[in-house]
Amino acid sequence: MAQLELMAAMVMAHHSEVQTVKAALLFVVAKDVIKAEFTRAQLPEIWSKWAGRIGAVEKAVEVNVWNPRPSALCKFCPVKDCANHPG
Ligand code: SF4
Repeated sequence: MAQLELMAAMVMAHHSEVQTVKAALLFVVAKDVIKAEFTRAQLPEIWSKWAGRIGAVEKAVEVNVWNPRPSALCKFCPVKDCANHPG
């Protein structure tokens, strides 16, 4: 859901005429679709939520260090030499 929310906010930020974003994530392997809808009225709340996380991203860009963050998605990751990859 966070991905959809952030992508919707970026679309609305770059296209001022967009008032509503209907978004979906398709998980092919799991045969599942997650749908969500966001409106321009939600933008302040969305940006507020993400503002607390941007510092870490900016620091990673600055020093060009991208520490691995293991998750349930590691098994789908193309970085096979990562210590967190299940192989
Ligand atoms: S396997 Fe991929 S997704 Fe998992 S921590 Fe390593 S780089 Fe990140």
